[in-house]
Amino acid sequence: MYQAFLIKYGEIGIKGKNRHIFEDTLVSQTANALKNVDGEFVVRKENGRIYAEAQTAFDLEEAVEALRCVFGIVGICPVVLTEDEGFEKLAQTVISYAREAFPSHHATFKVVTRRARKNYPMESMEVSAALGERLLEAFPELKVDVHHPQVTLHVEIRNKINLYSQTIKGPGGMPVGSAGRAMLLLSGGIDSPVAGYMIAKRGVKIDAVYFHAPPYTSERARLKVIDLAKTVAKYAGPIRLHIINFTEIQLYIYDKCPHDQLTIIMRRYMMKLAEHFAAENEDLGLITGESIGQVASQTMQSLAVTNEICTMPVYRPLIGFDKQDIVDIAQKIGTYETSVLPYEDCCTIFVAKHPVTKPNLKSIRKSETHLIPKIDALMQEAIETAETIRVEA
Ligand code: ATP
Ligand code: MG
Repeated sequence: MYQAFLIKYGEIGIKGKNRHIFEDTLVSQTANALKNVDGEFVVRKENGRIYAEAQTAFDLEEAVEALRCVFGIVGICPVVLTEDEGFEKLAQTVISYAREAFPSHHATFKVVTRRARKNYPMESMEVSAALGERLLEAFPELKVDVHHPQVTLHVEIRNKINLYSQTIKGPGGMPVGSAGRAMLLLSGGIDSPVAGYMIAKRGVKIDAVYFHAPPYTSERARLKVIDLAKTVAKYAGPIRLHIINFTEIQLYIYDKCPHDQLTIIMRRYMMKLAEHFAAENEDLGLITGESIGQVASQTMQSLAVTNEICTMPVYRPLIGFDKQDIVDIAQKIGTYETSVLPYEDCCTIFVAKHPVTKPNLKSIRKSETHLIPKIDALMQEAIETAETIRVEA
């Protein structure tokens, strides 16, 4: 029954002179999301609104599902478009619309008319009143409530007449591509995919890096991370994923450094390598799934030591979140089920029984001097052997 979607956006409406950049980004993100949907759409701006107009038949549920992943959208209204063929024809269209679209004919409703085309022969108020009357005749159980209606039927008289009454909640945020790009350290855990989602939600384009340690980590662990990237890409768009072989570096650290410092030293080298690829991609920062106190490597002291090696800003959107809050988001966005698959990542394989929880930077640096003979060559090799893939939803 619907021929279009009216796309409502919130925050991006208030960006002053930059507004059109945000709108254009939202238009292209919306068009991208609808590309994979059965049916063809034209997405366009019109009078401070965005319409996705179907050119063919389409699957409503599938289209709504796709739009619900587009950051920047706060509301999705399925719209019936009808030619202006006089009031009588309009009244009939509205009645058949109400038959299909009103959840219950016992609802309270009101009609709100907007006359964007001023040459229409009736005033807005007149149209609303006359349509209201016709609806009451057709559905005697309906009641008018102008203050708190359960259903508001919008009638907008433009070139075509637009009818809509339903607003499906969008994800909010800012359209991806409106805010630069950043490098996500993506592990197979619960947290980092959520961190990537949250930063993408602010309009940031995401690249990702994954460290694996074959044969200590399995091929299945690698595929799991690619799957997670795929799910994040549903919202963030295509992700450039760098898969870095970390085995030699980890073994070398294991060989040369005190075992209670392994994790923290390893994390410093992960950050360094991530920065290398971030710089190549012109990323403006790193993103991790760290949260204060969650594990030994995420105490304030550990975070300070990890951070010290970085020259780029490190964004940690989950820093103040409890695990359950993170799990809730993971479930909502669809990464949780993949994250809890049991394949181990390199962090869990090389952990010490009693890692330091309050590492001291001086002592960590001193341990790292033991790595001087080979570490640069190993880092170079990790960079040269990295595999880069493009992951799409
Ligand atoms: P997650 O659930 O995201 O794995 P975590 O609670 O297991 O987080 P850590 O293993 O200490 O915490 O990792 C902290 C952060 O470091 C992760 O959120 C992620 O951003 C990054 N990270 C950890 N391991 C890897 C890895 N193998 N490859 C890429 N990034 C990683
Ligand atoms: Mg982890």
